[in-house]
Amino acid sequence: MSEKRDYYEVLGVGKNANESEIKKAYRKLALKYHPDKNPDDAAAEAKFKEAAEAYEVLSNPEKKQRYDRFGHAGVGGAAGGGYGGMNMDDIFSQFGDIFGGAFGGGGRQSSRQRTARGTNLRVKLKLTLEEISEGVKKKIKVNKLVNAEVVTFKDCGTCKGTGRVTRMTQTFLGAMQTASTCPTCEGTGKIIDKRPAGADANGLRREEDVIEIDIPAGVEDGMQLSVSGKGNAGPFNGIPGDLLVVIEEIPHESLRRDGQNLHYEAFISFIDATLGGSIEVPTLTGKAKIKIEPGTQSGKMLRLKGKGLPSVQFYGTGDLFVHINVWTPKSVTKEEEKLLEKLRNSESFIPNPDGKEKGFFQRVKDMFSN
Ligand SMILES: [Zn+2]
Repeated sequence: MSEKRDYYEVLGVGKNANESEIKKAYRKLALKYHPDKNPDDAAAEAKFKEAAEAYEVLSNPEKKQRYDRFGHAGVGGAAGGGYGGMNMDDIFSQFGDIFGGAFGGGGRQSSRQRTARGTNLRVKLKLTLEEISEGVKKKIKVNKLVNAEVVTFKDCGTCKGTGRVTRMTQTFLGAMQTASTCPTCEGTGKIIDKRPAGADANGLRREEDVIEIDIPAGVEDGMQLSVSGKGNAGPFNGIPGDLLVVIEEIPHESLRRDGQNLHYEAFISFIDATLGGSIEVPTLTGKAKIKIEPGTQSGKMLRLKGKGLPSVQFYGTGDLFVHINVWTPKSVTKEEEKLLEKLRNSESFIPNPDGKEKGFFQRVKDMFSN
């Protein structure tokens, strides 16, 4: 499959285009590549579908936001490959109004039979940060609708198998014949003839299935990946729906995630802080040894470059920030107390910040300025 084009590029609008600009751009393309204007032109049909897919995402504030943050992966497409886009019937049923009568009836004149599409299946998938950092293959058990065997269908009596019913309506242009979806068979042209045990009125039954899915590295909590054609089967041997996988991140026991970066709170003794030493810090791939410089202040932040998470969309990997906290003993023995009392008035133990030590507010300011 070729690389997917950027949706803004497809519609020929800028990243800050507003709702009406997006709609206008889509309408222009949809009219240009409309299948009634370009019969049997596969290239035009591809353009028509591509524009509809772009519009479907960019016209939906929630999807647009996910797309802006994560790219194609955020709105389905990174997982499992084979993202087939929208089919023609989806486009006409969803965006028919946008053609505004330019092609009559808001839809399509041709009486092409509608293929029934199965519904999407939505599952939640819990992932650890370790799995997220590497990307992972997962087997997902789903309970989905499949086509029951030996179901036979016959032509619908209402529409005589065409899937459409026509009627005459008066418009300002005069009498017009409009076609609409047959209410009996919902446009499929077929109704069930013989139904085996366990099959519903659409010839479907439930079955457990195990689907393997490739999760790309760097996904985030709440992201939705879609696997084309792995959802519920379509009624009357129609097109299956999609499997939508919603990512749920299992919180890590000691690392906190912030986008691509990770944070770790390290506690060191004031002996180590004073004399220097080394500590071990957990990472997503094991452990990292960190050197503590003599004279380390509480609140110091160390950065382990590249020890964060990769991005689904961009190149590069985040960092792991280690926040140093100097541990103050909550109680000491008599002997320790005596030793410490001796040091109480020792000059090196009296706080004497020289201006290079940054307070909390300065550190926060620094963080936002780079
Ligand atoms: Zn019918």
